[in-house]
Order: sequence, then C-alpha cells, then structure tokens
Amino acid sequence: MKQATCAQMGNNMPGTCQTMIQGNTAEEMGKNGMAHVQQNHPDIVEQMKDMTDEDRAKWMADFQVKFDAMPDMA
Ligand SMILES: [Zn+2]
Repeated sequence: MKQATCAQMGNNMPGTCQTMIQGNTAEEMGKNGMAHVQQNHPDIVEQMKDMTDEDRAKWMADFQVKFDAMPDMA
C-alpha cells in the first residue's frame, strides 16, 4: 500500500488539496485519485475532458514513476 496527497498526484493544480489517496498499484491509485477528482474537483474534470488517450497514457507513465518512488506504507 502506498499513499500520496491529491496535490502530490498532480490532480490539484495549485497543489493545495491534502486528501490522501491510497492504492496497492499505480493503476489502483490512479483510479482512486480519479474518483476523488470527480467528486471534489469539477474544474479538473473539465480540463481532463480535453485529454487525448495519448495524454492519459503519458500521465499514467509519469505517475508510475512517481508511484515507484513513493515509500511503501505496507
Ligand atoms: Zn483533491
């Protein structure tokens, strides 16, 4: 299990949201982050509508690197 704040995940552009997002894999954490964004950050949901599949794949690849660098909470 790893965790990061919404801001650390890069969901919250000004970087002020301290809600903890958790997951066992980068994919799971990405999904949990998305659910949080959809409930709390309508402005970011708007921005994400413009993302292409390529943009999403790039975000996921970047996030995988961040996830691997996070300490394991286990
Ligand atoms: Zn947030």
